[in-house]
Amino acid sequence: LNGYVGFANLPKQWHRKSIRRGFNLNVMVVGESGLGKSTLMNTLFNRNLYSASSAAIPATEKPSAVEIESLSADIEENGVRLHLTIIDTPGFGDAINNTDSWTSIVSDINNRFDTYLEAESKVTRNTIADTRVHALIYFIEPTGHSLKPLDITFMKQVHGKVNLVPVIAKSDTMTEEEIVEFKQRINDDIITHNINIFKPAQFENDDDDTILSTQDLIAKIPFAVVGSTTAVTTADDRQVRGRSYPWGVIEVDNEEHCDFVRLRDLLVRNFLEELRERTGNVLYENYRTEKLKKMGI
Ligand code: GDP
Repeated sequence: LNGYVGFANLPKQWHRKSIRRGFNLNVMVVGESGLGKSTLMNTLFNRNLYSASSAAIPATEKPSAVEIESLSADIEENGVRLHLTIIDTPGFGDAINNTDSWTSIVSDINNRFDTYLEAESKVTRNTIADTRVHALIYFIEPTGHSLKPLDITFMKQVHGKVNLVPVIAKSDTMTEEEIVEFKQRINDDIITHNINIFKPAQFENDDDDTILSTQDLIAKIPFAVVGSTTAVTTADDRQVRGRSYPWGVIEVDNEEHCDFVRLRDLLVRNFLEELRERTGNVLYENYRTEKLKKMGI
């Protein structure tokens, strides 16, 4: 039942070296509890990353309202190995006063940069374990209004440090028209507040199909997602991952029903390498330059 994650789908994004050695992807998920974060991650990678029986090692790094927990899994497809780490942030947005909701998240992102910087400055630096955050998926509550102050504040705190990927959580709770309008308001807020979100680069020398599909992907941002790991039966008797309603089934893997497929394309199928490269070449480099400047080096 659609068990394929698809990170080995497009050989053009892989260097031979990555194929031989495998590679890693570190995804941070942030959003109020109950917005479907763990369900969506389980749906994306098609396994029970969050189940109690998994090899998950919760690592609380700071005694704070918001905790930082890492879950890892090794996935192999078509002879390519992916070491996946999900960095969850339970407790975010759950307090009555959320003023400091982002501080432990921001310092965790910084710590990861610092660890890399330290490793890089050592003499023998052949293989540096890359624990930096390659993408941060931010879950927006499907209110239909606009961004909340906490959404705006948080995104502004992290947009210079991570590839920020905002998504509309549980979009099956909204109608199609509501989603279109909600996306418009969110995008207006993003522009008004100068929030820098991740958009795949477009290249003039890409072929027409690639240009069109990238444009289509960008036009759907912020992705309206639905998560489900359970199989349901559609009216025409197909078994799909989805959610059942009296009026029918919302299919997770159907582009006509929600943007889950687009999120998966962006995260693992088409732009995984770009996310990793931008993390190293732009976000980390900016952090490093700033840090060295502050130290007077
Ligand atoms: P988390 O606290 O953000 O990790 O949220 P969970 O993944 O634990 O989901 C909270 C509840 O919402 C569970 O009952 C899920 O079954 C349900 N849920 C998860 N994803 C969706 C979705 O896309 N749509 C709807 N309607 N419910 C969802």
